[in-house]
Amino acid sequence: MYISEKVKKAKPTISFEIFPPKKDGSLDTIYSTLDELKGLHPDFISVTYGAGGSTRGTTVEISSKVQNHYKLPALAHLTCLTSEKSEIDGVLDRLEENGVKNILALRGDAPQNSCLDFSNEFRYEHSTDLIRHIKDRGGFCIGAACYPEKHSESKNVWDDIVHLREKVDCGADFLITQLFFDNEIFYKFMEKSKSMGIDVPVIAGILPVVNKKQIDRIVSLTGCTFPKKFTRIIERYEHKPEALKEAGIAYATEQIIDLLSWGVDGVHIYTMNKSQETINILKSISTIRNVLGEVEAS
Ligand code: FAD
Repeated sequence: MYISEKVKKAKPTISFEIFPPKKDGSLDTIYSTLDELKGLHPDFISVTYGAGGSTRGTTVEISSKVQNHYKLPALAHLTCLTSEKSEIDGVLDRLEENGVKNILALRGDAPQNSCLDFSNEFRYEHSTDLIRHIKDRGGFCIGAACYPEKHSESKNVWDDIVHLREKVDCGADFLITQLFFDNEIFYKFMEKSKSMGIDVPVIAGILPVVNKKQIDRIVSLTGCTFPKKFTRIIERYEHKPEALKEAGIAYATEQIIDLLSWGVDGVHIYTMNKSQETINILKSISTIRNVLGEVEAS
């Protein structure tokens, strides 16, 4: 099923992100995580794509398994910056053959010290190029990334939203946000996006932070803001892993409850290939999820 249709029917959607294991890693861990996540009845599962290349093949393999074995809509991520058109078409062919109908079309990031030549007609410079290509080809529901705190290369939030509007105009059917820890920033971003005529569903990406190592990585990857009450948790429990985990899950749960009350189109949990945190969160919101399901159905 197309995710854009799913959001219309089952808003707010609850979905999860997983990533392929590193080169030579076993797929079994992913499948045992999926065995557990399936019981939570997610609306879809997304599978990331390694821009560096080493795990690219497994994205198609895992997405196909999600779709055909687990019988859940799969959202396959696909990046374009470091791929040639023939490679991209190869991935699209394989996804199509395996019944995967949803793609998150991304630019990806260049490996450090690379100097890509975009004058080469076989390359794509922006996600908009990839979105256009998939739209022309047809047969897929297309998602794109958005950044409540702007993409690091954008001059400011407005500049970023201008390009976001372009992604939607090119054919993006829905958007998934970069992770954020301050819902107010997301709500302001939504206001700005609406004022720029962006009217496709926007699914909020939430990461339950459960260890200190994640924090430094998040800062370097996303540059996102940590609200005071979040930094207090980190400072207080950084050397007490179990306490930090408990508090991190509680923080993400509170964020999700607020988003659902606000009327968000969907919540996408970055699972980091672990099921327990997500199981705990969904247990805490099970009644809310049922109530919202009844409200939407009536
Ligand atoms: P773009 O949309 O191309 O945007 C990049 C920058 O260019 C922005 O500043 C934007 O404002 C600007 N821009 C956009 N279009 C144009 C245009 N037409 N002309 C001029 N400027 C433009 N990375 C992976 O490698 N694999 C993944 O699986 C993956 N999954 C992700 C999932 C989500 C939900 C998110 C939020 C990010 C994900 N990423 C992934 C990271 C992503 O690849 C990086 O953030 C990357 O730097 C930008 O990708 P993009 O698709 O947003 O790029």
